[in-house]
Amino acid sequence: MKKTILLLIVLLFGTACSGDHRFKIFNNPAAQKIYKSSHCNAQRPFPQMILIPFFNKATQIVSRCNTYEKHKTSLAMIVFYQQWYEHFGDKNKTVRYMLEDVMIEWGDKKKIVKIAYDVEGNLIKEATVIGLARSGNYIWAWKGYNNKISETSLIHELVHQALRATNGTGDSDHEGRRYKGWTWEHTSMIIKTKNMLRTFNI
Ligand SMILES: [Zn+2]
Repeated sequence: MKKTILLLIVLLFGTACSGDHRFKIFNNPAAQKIYKSSHCNAQRPFPQMILIPFFNKATQIVSRCNTYEKHKTSLAMIVFYQQWYEHFGDKNKTVRYMLEDVMIEWGDKKKIVKIAYDVEGNLIKEATVIGLARSGNYIWAWKGYNNKISETSLIHELVHQALRATNGTGDSDHEGRRYKGWTWEHTSMIIKTKNMLRTFNI
């Protein structure tokens, strides 16, 4: 698995060799030491907060070490950014900076919230949710049953935060008309990104 992940990172960074520097920010050698020292320790009390490699100040909060290993979260974010850039570009590097500062908390159980919207924009009261994207660049995502990031809502929540960073609103009703930002292309990008993560078995 680690070989596969390394290969993907090489492939993604490889695209930067043609003069396109969009991924340069993910490979800051000065930060490598910090990333090495920030790791999950099963002997210590939980939850633990861990820096996500290649993303400056991005962190994740975990309640056990295999949910999720930091290199998997990092790879999911790299793939997210590659797909976002391909679909929507990233003027002023706004989404890159959002990713560098995001906090992701992995939850053990689904949550119930007073109101939520489905992807079509229909309002649901007392909704059971598997993810939340809050202001302050905070994401909560249920860890799921299969220990696979592709089967969680992380990519969906990152789209909310990317929209919040670029438009000022996370667009909680998705493709609905109440808030602007989310289009069918965002929904389609999420499906493509999750399929890429499945290819790499994460
Ligand atoms: Zn949503």
